[in-house]
Amino acid sequence: MTNGNGVGPMKPRDRVLAALNREPVDRTPTCNPTSVATVELMDLVDAPFPQANRDPELMARLAATGYTELGFDTIMPVFTIIQESSALECKVQWEQKDNWPTVKMREPIYTDEDDIRFPDHWLTHQDTTCVLEAIRILKREYGDEVAVIGKTMGPWSLAYHCFGVEVFLLMSLDDPDKTKRILDKLKEVTVEFGVAQIEAGADALTLPDHATGDLVSGDYYDRYLRELHIEFVERIPIPLILHICGRTVDRMDYIAQTGMSAFHYDSKNQPQESMDIVQNRISLVGNINNPETLFAKGPEEVRAEVYKNLDAGVHLIGPECAIPLQTAIENLKVIPQAVKDWHREKADRN
Ligand SMILES: [Zn+2]
Repeated sequence: MTNGNGVGPMKPRDRVLAALNREPVDRTPTCNPTSVATVELMDLVDAPFPQANRDPELMARLAATGYTELGFDTIMPVFTIIQESSALECKVQWEQKDNWPTVKMREPIYTDEDDIRFPDHWLTHQDTTCVLEAIRILKREYGDEVAVIGKTMGPWSLAYHCFGVEVFLLMSLDDPDKTKRILDKLKEVTVEFGVAQIEAGADALTLPDHATGDLVSGDYYDRYLRELHIEFVERIPIPLILHICGRTVDRMDYIAQTGMSAFHYDSKNQPQESMDIVQNRISLVGNINNPETLFAKGPEEVRAEVYKNLDAGVHLIGPECAIPLQTAIENLKVIPQAVKDWHREKADRN
């Protein structure tokens, strides 16, 4: 049996990799490029934060629930955005089960470009090896069936963690050349951690670089990040999913020029306007609103957003960003269900 695209039933992994390449799929995959960890899932498999961010067995066990409990086509173990920053010796507040760990940005590790020096063993630090080992476990247990996605932070995000957000943004206004030199040094962390995750077995990598809509402009993206992101595509040989929060239509054309496989986009952008800009040069993934819909509304509202993305032709469906830890499981389970229903209804109409 084939679907309307002439494609027979696919494994989740093949479906995800095809959609990242804009190749035919049996149905649109559900993809979670950031985190679908919730307190409810932590309790279900006894793998709570903060331990599940620092112990590879627990990290893998919690991540697997994205597939086994929620029914997504991907498994994503790197819940936080601070694993490599911790290995660079940023001070981290690990928090408890119901809260995200954060870098203590009021105690930055760098104040100037000459301070940038990476500890010798940052790639064998507990918080980077935890990710690599979790990917190995997941690849071994689920790798034939499901796409395992890793994460390596971009230099703009790393600069926030190492210098502090305000200090770094002020520097980007005052001294563009110095800012570029700093990004150029920090990008090696992005490449090395990314390549290590490929070696561990990742099928694709999310690359968050928080030049977010409300903090910096599309011109900033062009000036500081477009070239670096093109370089990442060359040096990290695996499908990359760029993640930037907020309203980003002013930079989507630049992003579509990078050669990244996909852009993980926020609900502040309409699916159709975003598809019109990227014009099949890059896949889009995400867009289901977190704070209002997934966290505070019910399955019917989630379903409506899934349908809106599918109607626009968005390539992979999932939450817009790391979901709030108190999100109800039923709101997440409805995402894969709604995708299947939409495809069945479409087939019935044809
Ligand atoms: Zn985000």
